[in-house]
Amino acid sequence: MAVVNELSKKEPGRTRVVIIGAGFGGLAAARRLAEKPNVDVIIIDQRNHHLFQPLLYQVATAGLDPSQIAVPIRAVFASKEHVEVHLARVDRVDLAEAVVEGDSGKRLPFDYLILACGAQHSYAGHDWEGLAPGLKTSEQGIEIRRRLLLAFERAENELDPVEQQALLTFVVAGGGPTGVELAGAIADIGRTVLVKDFRRINPADARVILVHSGPRILPAYSERLSKHGQKDLEQLGVEVRVNQRVNDIDERGVVIGEERVEARTVFWAAGVEADQLTRTLGVETDHSGRVRVNKDLSVPGYGRVFVIGDAAYLEVDGHAVPGLAPAAMQEGRAAADNVLSSIAGRPTKAFRYLDKGTMATIGKRKAVASVFGLEFTGFVAWVAWLFVHILLLAGFRNRISVFFDWSWSYLFSRRGARLITSSQWRTTADLARPPDKPADLARPPDKPRASERTDGVQRPA
Ligand SMILES: Cc1cc2nc3c(=O)[nH]c(=O)nc-3n(C[C@H](O)[C@H](O)[C@H](O)COP(=O)(O)OP(=O)(O)OC[C@H]3O[C@@H](n4cnc5c(N)ncnc54)[C@H](O)[C@@H]3O)c2cc1C
Repeated sequence: MAVVNELSKKEPGRTRVVIIGAGFGGLAAARRLAEKPNVDVIIIDQRNHHLFQPLLYQVATAGLDPSQIAVPIRAVFASKEHVEVHLARVDRVDLAEAVVEGDSGKRLPFDYLILACGAQHSYAGHDWEGLAPGLKTSEQGIEIRRRLLLAFERAENELDPVEQQALLTFVVAGGGPTGVELAGAIADIGRTVLVKDFRRINPADARVILVHSGPRILPAYSERLSKHGQKDLEQLGVEVRVNQRVNDIDERGVVIGEERVEARTVFWAAGVEADQLTRTLGVETDHSGRVRVNKDLSVPGYGRVFVIGDAAYLEVDGHAVPGLAPAAMQEGRAAADNVLSSIAGRPTKAFRYLDKGTMATIGKRKAVASVFGLEFTGFVAWVAWLFVHILLLAGFRNRISVFFDWSWSYLFSRRGARLITSSQWRTTADLARPPDKPADLARPPDKPRASERTDGVQRPA
């Protein structure tokens, strides 16, 4: 933030718009403002890249590399003279003084503020983040990939069949789109990709349990689509448990309802809340920390401050605007237009949400989709999902490389990004391993080689 203060000298006659967060909402707002005369845009983000979160589960399950779903924010605005990008975390917003305060305590004044800081995982007060990572950032995607691949590696080295089964048991908490996509992809990677690579374990035997506290998974979808989603997951071998909660997590497993399940790998997709920054505003928020904004997306009492995307709560026509990328983008553009209207002395406009629909993919060839009120399932929905996601990806290079990687993976059941890159060679299972019990690489005499198995799974001899 020190850099921001020194470099961002405000020129007379120009309006400074500060945007916190270059996710879907912030980026859309900045693009709208970038060409306007007499407006200086300052984007502050704690990361140097914009991340396409809808494909993050593909990073987590080794389908894509993180760089394929991210673009440097600086590169997006390289040709926009009046857009500055700063890598910093904003810790506090002082609405009365119209300044933002950065992680080094420095302050940056603004004329207008667009707060687009998104959401983060909520563990409902539990200290489970280390035990069950969520999926929101590229770092988390890489961490989930690491744990997932390591669990199979550990299982291959394990002699004790009980421990081996626990290593091959994966629990995903939360049956929204992220949990469904993650659980489906884990089951899929075990059955179609890893199955060829291991000799002592059969990755197709991996047990994947999806736990959802409500009566049906994908609750934001119609009952028909959520039933389809459940059926498709079950066909992939995922155990779907509805009306059940993850009540406890430790290094060795989870408690689902009253039942203890030994599972060395647990992932969290069971709740989000707005970034902590919203709580520093001192204005009304909902139970998830989202700022209750006016119809024009401004903060009550502060007409020059707008909150958008996952950080905002607004009802349009009696329905809350959903936490989806298109909603954040539409709000970003609307907030930018309202900033320009306000600068020009015109009245601001109420935000109108155009619901284009929503979709979730299940495994390699299926999806459920609701598009402009029409519902699709199975392969047709999956093809629609594929094209929408490739089209929406930021960056032409990313679109091409994702298209080729997916075609390759579809045709040959290969996943190229199966790297375990962290030097931290530990899984939650390692925390549970007794210190005197080293991983034994010797094959137990009574265990057949994979090529000798009689379970029908074809593997190389
Ligand atoms: C795994 C996953 C899958 C998803 N799948 C879909 C999907 O298929 N379809 C769909 O429509 N939506 C999907 N979503 C939801 C969608 O990604 C969000 O609704 C959307 O990203 C919200 O946009 P936003 O701009 O509000 O926040 P974000 O895109 O989350 O961006 C917030 C930005 O703010 C920055 N930031 C946060 N706090 C600070 C701070 N204090 N200081 C500086 N910078 C800060 C962050 O680094 C980030 O860049 C998915 C989300 C996830 C996590």
